[in-house]
Formats: sequence, C-alpha cells, structure tokens
Amino acid sequence: MPFSDTSLPTMIASSEAESLIRSRMPRFATERRPIDRVGGAILRQPIVAERDQPPFDRVSMDGIAVRFDDVAQGVRTFSLCGVQLAGMPPLTLDQQHGCIEVMTGAVLPAGCDTVIAVEQTRRHGSHVTLDPDYRPSAGQFIHRRGSDCRAGDILIDSGARLRAPEIAVLAANGYAQVEVAREPGVAILGTGDELVAVDAPVAAWQIRRSNDRALAAMLASRGLGDVRLQPVADDLPALRSVIERELQTRDVLILSGGVSMGQRDYVPEVLRELGVECVFHKIAQRPGKPMWFGIGPQGQAVFALPGNPVSVLVCAARYVLPALLEAMGQRVSAPEHVGLASPMAYAAPLTWFVPVRLQQDDSGTRTAVPLPPPTSGDFSHLSQTDGIVELPATLQQFPAGFRAAYYPW
Ligand code: AMP
Ligand code: MG
Repeated sequence: MPFSDTSLPTMIASSEAESLIRSRMPRFATERRPIDRVGGAILRQPIVAERDQPPFDRVSMDGIAVRFDDVAQGVRTFSLCGVQLAGMPPLTLDQQHGCIEVMTGAVLPAGCDTVIAVEQTRRHGSHVTLDPDYRPSAGQFIHRRGSDCRAGDILIDSGARLRAPEIAVLAANGYAQVEVAREPGVAILGTGDELVAVDAPVAAWQIRRSNDRALAAMLASRGLGDVRLQPVADDLPALRSVIERELQTRDVLILSGGVSMGQRDYVPEVLRELGVECVFHKIAQRPGKPMWFGIGPQGQAVFALPGNPVSVLVCAARYVLPALLEAMGQRVSAPEHVGLASPMAYAAPLTWFVPVRLQQDDSGTRTAVPLPPPTSGDFSHLSQTDGIVELPATLQQFPAGFRAAYYPW
C-alpha cells in the first residue's frame, strides 16, 4: 500500500504510547466498603487468613466416628455414645468399642480418628455394625485443621477482581468491610457539530452521536459506572467551558472528535489553554492515529480520541481501558496472544489494529479471524467482532498462525 504522511516523524509507537500513559497515570483513591457492596470491585488490600482453615478437624461425611485401633483389632459392632452435630462443641469418646454419630461439618470428637460413612453401616438400637466386606482406612473422611491454609497466610493479593470465590474468602475470614478501588468519575465528551442524540430528529446531513454510548458501555462492562456523558459543539468558548467544568469534578476526561487537522478541531488547543499537559499527540497506528493524551492540573487523566467510531473503540480497548484498570490498582497482566486464522499484509510503517472474531480451531485453540472494516469509518460491522489484534509496524506480512496481542471490546 503506498504511504506518505508528513506528520510521521512526530508520531510515537503504540508501545511507547502505552508506557507513557502508564508512567503518567495517577493512582486512584481507595475506599472501605461493606462486603455486600464489593462484588466486581478491585481489591486494594491483601486478604489474610483469620484462622487455620478448616479451623478444626472437620468431619467430611455423615456417619460414625471411631478409634481406628478398634477396627484394626477386628471390632465390627460399636456402641453409640452420642451425636456430634455441626456447630456443637466437641464430645469425647471414652468408651472402648464405642462410636459417636457424626454429621458433615461437625468437629471430630476427641478420642476418635476415623469416620465411617453411614452407607457402610447398619444400625440396630444403640449399636452400629459395619457392613461385612467393608474395610475402612485409618483417618478417612477427616478434613484436617489447617490443611487448606494457615492463620496469617495471604489468601488474595491486592489487585484482584472480587468475584464469587473471592467474596467467599472474604466472608469466611471475617472481612465485613474491605478496602477497594474507588470508581473514578469519568466524563465522556462527544464533540462535533454534525452530531445529534439517539432520540432526536436527524437531518440528512447529520449523524447520530454513538461514540459516547459505546465508550460508556465498554467502561460499564468492566465495572466503571460513574460516567457522565456530555455533548459539545465544535465551538471554542463552548468547548472551553465544558472541559473546564468537567476538569473540576471528574478524575478522567475522555473526548471524542476534534483532535485532527480539521478547521474546527479545537480540542488540543483548548486542553493546553486549560493547563492540561500534552504527554503525546499522534501514534504511528491505524486507525486512531490522532490520539492525544495528557494530564490535567490536578492530575486528571485526559484521553482525546479521534471521532471515527472505529478509532474510538480501538483506542479505548488498547489504551484507555487498561490504563483506567491499572490506575484502580487491578493487577496488570500481559494481553492474551492469539494466532491469526488467515494471513494479513500491511505495507505502511504503522501498527495496524484489526477487528477480529475469535473462534476455536479443530484442536480447540482460540484463533482470530480478521474482519477489517471495508472503509476506515465502517463500524456497522464491528458487532460481528470480539475485539482487535495488534499487528506490529515493523512487519509487513502476517502469515496465518501469526500470534498477535488481542484486546477485547
Ligand atoms: P473528527 O475526529 O471530529 O474529525 O471526526 C471523525 C469522524 O467521526 C467524522 O466523520 C465524525 O462525524 C465522526 N464522529 C465524531 N464523533 C462521533 C460520535 N460521537 N459518534 C459517531 N461518529 C462520530
Ligand atoms: Mg469533529
């Protein structure tokens, strides 16, 4: 593909954009929340085992508890000396050839060391007899104290996403309150004189505003719900006053449109005027080349994305979302790499982000089927895709099987 672009020398590589964002992003605050309001949140403290787990030798089968020595000496019938229910303090077995009826979850009675399942016994009056062929083994059906973890062990590291298993650990270890990431307040500013709302009458020369909704949905799907949508005209005073106001109340501003070379692309100019330091402008990539990133006077993160709806989603998935999650303290993991299902070629010295649909090949491995939009602005077909792969600027040919970093929508 022929390529000429005079702005090329000022552009930075996608990897450099990522590291500049990571080095300049603020760390968002934490807050203490009750356990019933932390589902989906990012943990911001380590979770330590309150006690040994299990905290006592726990019976793991309904049946009888006995002394294995008795069984080894050939005893097959035991006299019942009590019932140990779950939640009762431990009984003691002090009678020879005796047994205690036990329930799953109960403490193993003192003096017992083996549990025999009720299915392997027969009860007659106050005696229990083992089935003729049944041979128990010493110590069976006892979940030993401390065999899962020890008091003081770190069970969950800071940075984990709190899902059902993590919430179970919190509850089991006495964490009624827990320190989690506070959701940053985000403003999404959609610029453009041609844009009208989803539910407003639309003229033939106008288009409906969609970027702000798409961005909000992407953030919401990762637990970022404190989002304010704010349309703005391509008008200097209007842009200035809206950005100024949002900078006062929000931690993060995401703008779409107005960062390119058009006559009314005022966004970089207004951001500079309002004291937002430009960290970079333009990335050697397609789509999304005009992306702008900066830091506001109070450390606010400002992402100004080009208005092309494909660019908006690419830049958000590749840069904005990972940056916000890391700033909230989420553990950073390298992107998943998937193999291309068919070859791709791209001659321009730019990182190429290609929408893909994931599928499983015959061996069950996930591969990425490239579905590049026919035109740069065609987002009508993106709903058939799962995310993007990043094809590096240093290569021109990407054979089938080429492993590329994958970023989901
Ligand atoms: P811009 O970056 O402002 O030059 O916009 C690039 C293209 O994206 C133009 O065709 C815009 O009409 C379109 N566009 C900008 N903002 C939005 C939006 N919020 N929703 C849908 N399309 C948009
Ligand atoms: Mg515009």
